[in-house]
Amino acid sequence: MEIVRSERKPVAIAAPSLSLYRSAPHLEVRLEDFELYAIDRLRVLKGISDGLSRGKKPDEMEKLVKELWRTNMRHRDPDEVLNKDIISHFVLRLVYCRTEELRKWFLSMETTLFRYRFRLESTESQRRLMTEFQLPYKALSHAEFETVKDKLGQVARSIGQPPNADTVFFKVPFEEVAELVASRRVYILKGYAYVPMNQVVSLVVTQFRCKISKALVLTNRKWTSTIRDQEKDRLTPIVEALSNSYLGPDYSESKIVAEISLKDIDQLANKSFPLCMHHLFEKLREDHHLKHGGRMQLGLFLKGVGLKLDDALAFWKAEFSKKVGAERFDKEYAYSIRHNYGKEGKRTDYTPYSCQKIISSTPSVGDHHGCPYRHFSEENLRAALGKMGVGGRSLDDVMDKVRNRHYQLACTLTFEAIHASSCDTGINHPNHYFSESQKILQPKIQPMT
Ligand code: SF4
Repeated sequence: MEIVRSERKPVAIAAPSLSLYRSAPHLEVRLEDFELYAIDRLRVLKGISDGLSRGKKPDEMEKLVKELWRTNMRHRDPDEVLNKDIISHFVLRLVYCRTEELRKWFLSMETTLFRYRFRLESTESQRRLMTEFQLPYKALSHAEFETVKDKLGQVARSIGQPPNADTVFFKVPFEEVAELVASRRVYILKGYAYVPMNQVVSLVVTQFRCKISKALVLTNRKWTSTIRDQEKDRLTPIVEALSNSYLGPDYSESKIVAEISLKDIDQLANKSFPLCMHHLFEKLREDHHLKHGGRMQLGLFLKGVGLKLDDALAFWKAEFSKKVGAERFDKEYAYSIRHNYGKEGKRTDYTPYSCQKIISSTPSVGDHHGCPYRHFSEENLRAALGKMGVGGRSLDDVMDKVRNRHYQLACTLTFEAIHASSCDTGINHPNHYFSESQKILQPKIQPMT
């Protein structure tokens, strides 16, 4: 795949509607498309990840995947849809090949995506994909079918899928379809499972998973050793940004449509701040000081919820003065607050941190920034959640998500427990938590969305 800056249109490639992503396509890709296509696919994979973590059932997942794909992977030029699918897969393969953890996540999401897309294909197209995979399984001959048809009928009826005379069966070594054997969905005879066409997805998915897993390891090897330096220099910033990308709304100051007043800040902190900000806020009130990481994380969040610069300076000064004195605050700390608001230095309107950025931060001893779901000990997290009023079954559910490293879902469940209201979009930004909370608590005000 060549990355170009030109306006030349990529060459269309002929392939079935569901790709097996065997090798990177020989086509030119504009640098903008390289990134935009990948972001769209990432939205699909993240949506799948959220659906799975929320325990959606297979039929709900099928609907979700269909909707995510339809919304994010369309293209104004219908001929480009397949190219977008293939290009975005290969870009994300590059992004997610670099560590064991990234590979595991990407493999799991791509496999789930493939599984549901395969189920949505026509029988004809499914058979074509099986041929492409060169699966060594032969369809049962008519004579062989006649000898086992009663047994096949019994199994089919027992799983609520009455037999159909046209159903094609495949004879497969039973250990290759462990999932079907475990759920008693296939007839087994002399070490072979008789798999009907509509269950064949398990076979194909296993093959798909295995091939993508090997491909990810190879891509990593190539990326670290053989990709030309110049090309690597050009792609590295995009690859890095993609693996950390936040896909939600922009909470920079220019997008703020509501203000908060200094006199309301304690009440807002108690009711509408997510745990990460609530913790920083409490520590600031207690110690009258926060280290740089904490000042940045809380300061930009407060800017994002609508605290004006003058109020921000008054707020930080009131606290810091108790510890370092007003003069030292003016000399050493006021500059960085004005800087955050774009009034010093490069005059950039700095954006509040997303969950992804906060979760991947690495606080040291004495720091209070970071995401409590990721960075607190279990004991401290339980205590902090208890103080916020989360207990009983809700607390167990939150801790369960934390153990499985679904930190944003843990935060979403906390939100739902505190507000007694669902949050279908999930929490992916502290400022999103705040605005969703305010929508519930102050429905008429509705700040930033
Ligand atoms: S998940 Fe996000 S909003 Fe929630 S505590 Fe962690 S960083 Fe804050």
